[in-house]
Amino acid sequence: MATVIDGKAVAQTIRSEIADEVQLLSQKYGKVPGLAVVIVGNRKDSQSYVGMKRKACAELGIKSFDVDLPEQVSEAELIKQVHELNANPDVHGILVQLPLPKHINEEKVLTEISLEKDVDGFHPLNIGKLAMKGRDPLFLPCTPKACLELLHRSGVTIKGKNAVVVGRSNIVGLPASLLLVKADATVTIVHSHTSQPESIIREADILIAAAGQPKMIKGSWIKPGAAVIDVGTNAVDDPTRKSGYKLVGDVDFEEASKIAGWITPVPGGVGPMTVTMLLKNTLEGAKRYIEKNN
Ligand code: NDP
Repeated sequence: MATVIDGKAVAQTIRSEIADEVQLLSQKYGKVPGLAVVIVGNRKDSQSYVGMKRKACAELGIKSFDVDLPEQVSEAELIKQVHELNANPDVHGILVQLPLPKHINEEKVLTEISLEKDVDGFHPLNIGKLAMKGRDPLFLPCTPKACLELLHRSGVTIKGKNAVVVGRSNIVGLPASLLLVKADATVTIVHSHTSQPESIIREADILIAAAGQPKMIKGSWIKPGAAVIDVGTNAVDDPTRKSGYKLVGDVDFEEASKIAGWITPVPGGVGPMTVTMLLKNTLEGAKRYIEKNN
């Protein structure tokens, strides 16, 4: 049976490490990290993600700057707000919750975030540096960073291993594959046009699944002893639950956990780690700024 990687427990350990570092910064410089969380409109899921992020900041002593804008806000006004946050020395990270309303060009807004405050790691320059040999981005995107952190903290060797990433989105699959290349794995990307994905996935010593397809990856597709990180978070009907649904991953956990060496559950695997990586990025940005300017 695979070792089940407890993302909640790892996240808790990292959060207490962050809280200690926040306290040290505060004692040494009288300053704490600041994270601006910008939300546009009233989407329920976005409100709940933003609420989680703001609450997590408060728990670790990170100052949160809340910018709540109405659905009809213009692109120009949103960009003006981003510029103000760029100029605020107490803000070390800026996060614009996605998706934005249709009348706003997301790419244009994200590009306006100062590179030094791009804690989501989505700025094209940060992604570009991630892709280049010998360059280091200022921030790594949170979910891929969470995947790698889970592998490292579970003692999984990455160097020289075959890694397969299922999915190539800008926020998960693509940066996860770039991070694995930087960590000296041999990486194959599987996407919706890949023929016979199972034969590629069977070669994976490390598998990162981020396709958004419930239980697409069967136990028989897993290489014995592989490390399986399941990013997929899919709501499927479950009439036995009050909510009427449950969350499942892209990997069939029941089957795969009998064959893999390590596996993350859904929920309780990558999910709790993603917000923690955002807080870690904010701390890193704050340390860079505060240490340089004091
Ligand atoms: P996207 O929909 O943006 O991307 C999905 C990717 O998977 C695409 O590259 C797509 O290929 C590929 N894909 C889709 N179907 C298949 C298939 N049948 N076989 C192979 N590849 C396939 O999703 P995201 O990257 O944003 O998210 C992926 C999953 O991760 C979702 O379930 C999401 O909820 C979850 N997630 C979880 C997070 C967490 O913190 N736990 C954070 C972010 C996302 P193509 O490019 O060809 O279309």
